Formats: sequence, structure tokens, C-alpha cells
Amino acid sequence: MIENIFRNKKHSITLSNEFVPKNDWHKEKLIIGGPCAIESYEQLLDIAQFMKNIGVKVLRGGAYKPRTSPHTFQGLGDEGLKILSAVRKQIGLLCVTEAIDEKSLEKVTEVADMIQIGSRNMQNFSLLKEAGRQPKPVLLKRGMAATIQEWIHAAEYIATQGNMNIILCERGIRSFDSYTRNVLDIAAIPIIKQETGLPIIVDPSHGTGLRSLIRPMSLAAMAAGADGLIIEVHRYPDQSISDSIQTIDFQEFESILYAIR
Ligand code: PEP
Ligand code: MN
Repeated sequence: MIENIFRNKKHSITLSNEFVPKNDWHKEKLIIGGPCAIESYEQLLDIAQFMKNIGVKVLRGGAYKPRTSPHTFQGLGDEGLKILSAVRKQIGLLCVTEAIDEKSLEKVTEVADMIQIGSRNMQNFSLLKEAGRQPKPVLLKRGMAATIQEWIHAAEYIATQGNMNIILCERGIRSFDSYTRNVLDIAAIPIIKQETGLPIIVDPSHGTGLRSLIRPMSLAAMAAGADGLIIEVHRYPDQSISDSIQTIDFQEFESILYAIR
């Protein structure tokens, strides 16, 4: 048993905004789709339109990208956030994007409906505390080498500042086998439910790093009780600037959602 402040509390993620009137995200599955990174206005608009057409309510897309190598595309930054804001209004979709530090958090909270804190920042305690001082839901990804206990403590850093709107995201952990990018810890889903009762979604894209594994891992996550999924989708996956080998196309995404339903 892991002592934590979430135990025996009721958790429902509520979110009021101009597109979805008081949506209780806990009652329906939280499906999030979109590109790894925002690449252009046209790219994001196209993907957002597709999401809207198939009934997906939440769009993902990184503007500030925490990349492992400083030599790779770092995201469009402020320009990307502007694109996200415009597309969000134009299509009428909720959006989630990552804040990588306190400076970007301030900007992201003005635009996004949900704030993502990525794997590399799971133990950035000053960022977690700042995220806890703003009211929007926080999507807290598991650190790539974090134990479940450390992950729950990270969530407590947010909650103790006043924000209990927290959704955890299992996105795979480091192991000795490099066949997959990470090892997706399916057992973490029921464990998080037992230990905290917080909603938990799964990211099979970063969790496996392989396009062909998105479908089976999405189904496995839902079977294990996940509250939703976050998946990297692009019209032309091979052309995505970042994470192309784990990105799926529109047809595959739609067919996975069909299989889940
Ligand atoms: C992402 O979802 O864009 C991302 C960078 O994921 P992670 O933090 O899990 O690596
Ligand atoms: Mn990515």
C-alpha cells in the first residue's frame, strides 16, 4: 500500500469550457489524438477536422517539445501555441499541450484545456507546484524511470497546491529490452486505481515506439481498466517531423476506436 492523499476520495475530472458544457471525463473514455508536434497551421487544422468528424473531443499537439537531442526539432514554441489556439477555436475542440518549464506553463494555461507534464519533467517539483496553483486539469505522464510510488508523490505535489484535477498517463518505462522504445506497464493501471482512484490514461505511442503495436496495446489498456488513451496521429505518419515511426494514420486511428467501442 502506498500512503497518499488521493486514497478514498472521489475523483471526477470536470471541465467547463465553450465547447463541451460540463463534461464529466470520468464517465466516458477520454480519447486524445493528434500529432506529436504542431508542424504548421494546415497540418493541425487537417488533423483537428478529422478528430472532430469522428467524434474525438480532445486534440493533442506539442508546441514546446522536450527532445532527447538538442539537434532535433524542438517544436514551434510560441508560434505553435498560436496555431493551437487558432485551430482550437476554429474547429471547436478541447486541446492538451505540454508545458516544459514555468515560463511555458504560463502561456500554455492561457490556451490549453489540459496541461501536459511530460515524462522528463515528472520530478520537476517547482513545475509541479506551479501546475498545482492553476485550475486547469493536469495530465501527468509517468517518468521513464519512475516507480509508481514516485509517480503518485509527483501527483501529490500538484494536489497539495490546490489542484486535484489530475489525470495520470502511463507511457512506458525503461527496461533492458530495446526492441520497443519503452515497456508499457499495463499493471500500473489497476495499481493506480487501487492506490489512488485517480483517472489514468495510456499512451501506447511513446509506450512502445512502434506503429504496429498501437492497436494491441490500446486494447490491452482498455481491458485493464484505463480511462482513456492518448495517441499520436498524422495524415502522413512517415512525414511527421518527430516520432514518425510510432505515429499512426487516420484510418488506423479510426479503426482502433471502432475496435475499442
Ligand atoms: C509527448 O507526449 O509529446 C511526449 C514527449 O511524451 P513523454 O513525455 O511521455 O515522452
Ligand atoms: Mn512524441
